[in-house]
Amino acid sequence: MENKLDYQLEYYEKYFGDIKQVKKTVENCPNCGNPFFFTHNTDYKTLQVKETACCTNCSFGKRKLVHYVN
Ligand SMILES: [Zn+2]
Repeated sequence: MENKLDYQLEYYEKYFGDIKQVKKTVENCPNCGNPFFFTHNTDYKTLQVKETACCTNCSFGKRKLVHYVN
């Protein structure tokens, strides 16, 4: 729990620091430990990055996030 919160904070700091950095971020599936497969759709008009993460190793499912670029 505690570590997960720290990770989320770190993740956002990286994102706002460098938009290219976040695209290389590897996150592991909490279910099986396999790296998530990420897809990003960047909309520069609305300054949103839509990120979809899913595990290709198990049926953990998808997680969708929307980032806003400041
Ligand atoms: Zn998995």
